[in-house]
Amino acid sequence: MWHPSRRELLQFGLAGLAAAGCSTIAPLGHPGDAALGQVPGQRPRRDDRVVVLNPRERVPLSFIIDDSTCLVNLNRFAIPQFAAIWNHQRYDQAWREMPHEIPDDFVRKFGQWCGERRIKGKYSIVPFPACVGRLDRTLPGWSQRELDASLDLVRTLMLPDWDIHPEMITHTLAIDTRTGHPYPEQSPRLAENWNFTDGKSVDQLADYISYALRILKNVGLPCEGITTPGGFAGRVRPELAEASWQAVRDVFQVELPHYFKYVIAEGPASVAPRVELAADLDQPDPKAVVSIIACTGDWTGGWDCSDRGDVDRFITEDLQRGRMVEVIERGEPAIMLCHWTGIYFNGEEVGFRVFQEAVRRMHARFDLLQWMKLSEIARYWAAKELTASELGESQLRLSAPFAAPAFTVRLPGRDPRRPRLRVAERMIELREVSGADRLAASTWRRDGQHWVACFDLPRGPSQLEFGE
Ligand SMILES: [Zn+2]
Repeated sequence: MWHPSRRELLQFGLAGLAAAGCSTIAPLGHPGDAALGQVPGQRPRRDDRVVVLNPRERVPLSFIIDDSTCLVNLNRFAIPQFAAIWNHQRYDQAWREMPHEIPDDFVRKFGQWCGERRIKGKYSIVPFPACVGRLDRTLPGWSQRELDASLDLVRTLMLPDWDIHPEMITHTLAIDTRTGHPYPEQSPRLAENWNFTDGKSVDQLADYISYALRILKNVGLPCEGITTPGGFAGRVRPELAEASWQAVRDVFQVELPHYFKYVIAEGPASVAPRVELAADLDQPDPKAVVSIIACTGDWTGGWDCSDRGDVDRFITEDLQRGRMVEVIERGEPAIMLCHWTGIYFNGEEVGFRVFQEAVRRMHARFDLLQWMKLSEIARYWAAKELTASELGESQLRLSAPFAAPAFTVRLPGRDPRRPRLRVAERMIELREVSGADRLAASTWRRDGQHWVACFDLPRGPSQLEFGE
């Protein structure tokens, strides 16, 4: 693993700091959104007596998997390219000893284990992994039948519970989108993880991201978001938000795109998603993009299998400490990060075991948890921040640019009468339940001096009524 000197820190800044692995570590102790290049955009009038809770009062969990793709063990092919980019001054991992492939049998084993526990998250598919081959063309070293079967496995087993993201095109050498080939020069200036995006405009970034998305579209893998490799776009952060929105909209016509770039792995800073560039909220085509933040580093096995992970950093054996405990107790979305290469760990599956133990411990400690895809968490947060609300004597008026399932609000009052949701001519009765663990869409519960309502929030106007 690379330990940057002061000169290198100054030379590459924080973007470079993270480039050794993936995603950008937010400047510790400097939680301001400005540091993350955030532009919130519009916010509607909201009644502060209306508290939007986590969906069904359950803390969202999610698992971000980076560096995954079909068949190719990214490290085996990426590390020699990283070494060439850095003139062989760094990246001396023993890549020749690493297997070429992360087999579909392991994808199946992992996917089924997670499926049985309704675990959800994001699974990258690097579209042109380390320049080995475009997944929508051919993958040298594997037969077309093997590639097709691998793509089919992702479509059938992973897609239902996992957002698919490009990361970006190759995760190594930048591609000239006019020719489809990597640029001839191998240097940080033309590498996705480092400085290729420096000074790029929104249009240039959107062109590059769209190129990656189109490859996945060609192989029948829909995307609602993207993941940045290493320090990608670290010096053009506001542009990244806009370009992500444009590219995902253009290629997949997605209503509410999201992107993953930032990690806040310690400290009090909020790890809640950032809802950005909100505009035209009361128009037919509202705009917003959501920045999803991971709240842990990769403590499973690491991108290059250089350590064997540490489950206690997620949650300790006594279930009392660890980053996941901290964030779950705060009630914020607790999103773990890993690299597929470390989960497989060259066949030893070290990262997979660390993850399995972390999951076991979290469910042993906490009752009200809910695994969600990043797109589901993004949608809920957009609804939470962008829905106008006005509380009256016996009704709550809502106007939502984005619909959200199991929208959950706490309202003042001990004794609501026959709570029901009016959506145009339709009326949906809410059923009373005894506790938070029973809460689901179209139910409500008493909560001391307050009451909690949970319902599928429609797009546009709706009204929660609770008087005679
Ligand atoms: Zn990565």
